[in-house]
Amino acid sequence: MFRNTLSRSPKCIVSRSSVSAARTFSVTRHHRSEQLAQIGSLNVFTEEKEMIRETVRRFATEVVQPKVREMDENEQMDTSIIQGLFQQGLMGFETASIHGGSESSFTSTIIAIEELAKVDPSVSVLCDVHNTLVNTVLRKYGNEEQKDKWLSLLSTEKAGNLGSFCLSEPASGSDAFALQTKASKVGNDYVLNGTKMWITNSYEAEVFLIFANINPAKGYKGITCFIATKDMGIEIAKKEQKLGIRASSTCTLNFDNVKIPKENIIGGEGKGYKIAIEILNEGCIGIAAQMLGLAQGAFSLSVPYTYTRTQFGQPIGNFQGIRKLLTYNAARRKENGLPFVKEVAMAKWYASKVAESVSGKAIEWMGGTGFTRETGVEKFWRDSKIGAIYEGTSNIQLSTIAKFIQKEYSP
Ligand SMILES: Cc1cc2nc3c(=O)[nH]c(=O)nc-3n(C[C@H](O)[C@H](O)[C@H](O)COP(=O)(O)OP(=O)(O)OC[C@H]3O[C@@H](n4cnc5c(N)ncnc54)[C@H](O)[C@@H]3O)c2cc1C
Repeated sequence: MFRNTLSRSPKCIVSRSSVSAARTFSVTRHHRSEQLAQIGSLNVFTEEKEMIRETVRRFATEVVQPKVREMDENEQMDTSIIQGLFQQGLMGFETASIHGGSESSFTSTIIAIEELAKVDPSVSVLCDVHNTLVNTVLRKYGNEEQKDKWLSLLSTEKAGNLGSFCLSEPASGSDAFALQTKASKVGNDYVLNGTKMWITNSYEAEVFLIFANINPAKGYKGITCFIATKDMGIEIAKKEQKLGIRASSTCTLNFDNVKIPKENIIGGEGKGYKIAIEILNEGCIGIAAQMLGLAQGAFSLSVPYTYTRTQFGQPIGNFQGIRKLLTYNAARRKENGLPFVKEVAMAKWYASKVAESVSGKAIEWMGGTGFTRETGVEKFWRDSKIGAIYEGTSNIQLSTIAKFIQKEYSP
């Protein structure tokens, strides 16, 4: 049902104007504003894009939503969701129709990622990696034979092959180009040996873009991008147990003499570094969209509750805004040494905030390891949430503070 809507969509509009805008940004202010006008408002989307948003919204609420909790608890993506994404034409957004794609735009992809994340960030990242990383590498750097062969596998419902992007390794995360996976030429093939880590979609994927070095003596200039299928001998090893996006698979992959034909090199020997940099630069926009959708999803889920839950004879939503303003005022007063009860309230409210913030930072400091449940650092973050709840919730602390301020300032 949704598929028809998407496949009727006209060809890309935003990308064309974006490209011409980029060319003229360096000219005059007048030209710049003309070009910005051509790109269009950030708040108003074309009918095509609104249609895509509505299509994805329906898919997310009708098909994904009922499975979200179960998938998170089982740490497993439901394969029917992946099939559904293919059926609806959401797995080949920018891919040409001759390859089974929707021939839509990058902005439409971003809209879809955002809409999916409002309901489930795991489904969102699955769609994001497949479209903005895997498909884009093939569309941009693949030759015609490669596009014919691989893009239809990655776009059509019939083939339904999910893609993975394999760059990170145990010893190379932020420093991605220190990767150690090696590809040695043997006749007309390359033989890959090494290990990749943190690979999204890899548990369910059939198609893998793999970055390996064909000449370590040349450093990053030896990095080359290969395309391979699981049945070539890729071992899907450890599946991570994670703090979040638990339905999205993240695995370690082992390559033990995996033979890949040389025609499976994408973009030429030694071009993997350039490909990875360019693709990840634009891929980040997808992750930003995922985070935006996630925030909107959390907001829409929680705010209605505050208008139905009553405490002290009125909806708790009525307490929020005014208390916040009073608290800023109370913080200023604290610096001047006001009485004990209010200071305790302030200390607890503030300490629980700091605990949440610092333990969240600690996860980031440990990179991907912090995001798994292996070290326990994520437990501190989960545990910090209780600080805003027991022995007087944060809102109650704010109320206490507000009462003191009211007493001090009212005539
Ligand atoms: C759920 C998940 C999914 C992922 N999916 C994929 C995927 O599909 N494909 C893929 O290839 N990779 C994937 N990754 C890997 C991801 O890109 C890396 O985790 C990330 O690049 C960070 O690397 P790291 O975990 O090794 O942390 P590290 O690089 O070890 O970083 C640890 C800390 O040191 C800091 N740090 C490191 N270098 C510097 C510096 N120069 N300056 C300042 N601070 C620095 C970091 O900011 C971080 O705070 C995924 C990771 C996770 C957790």
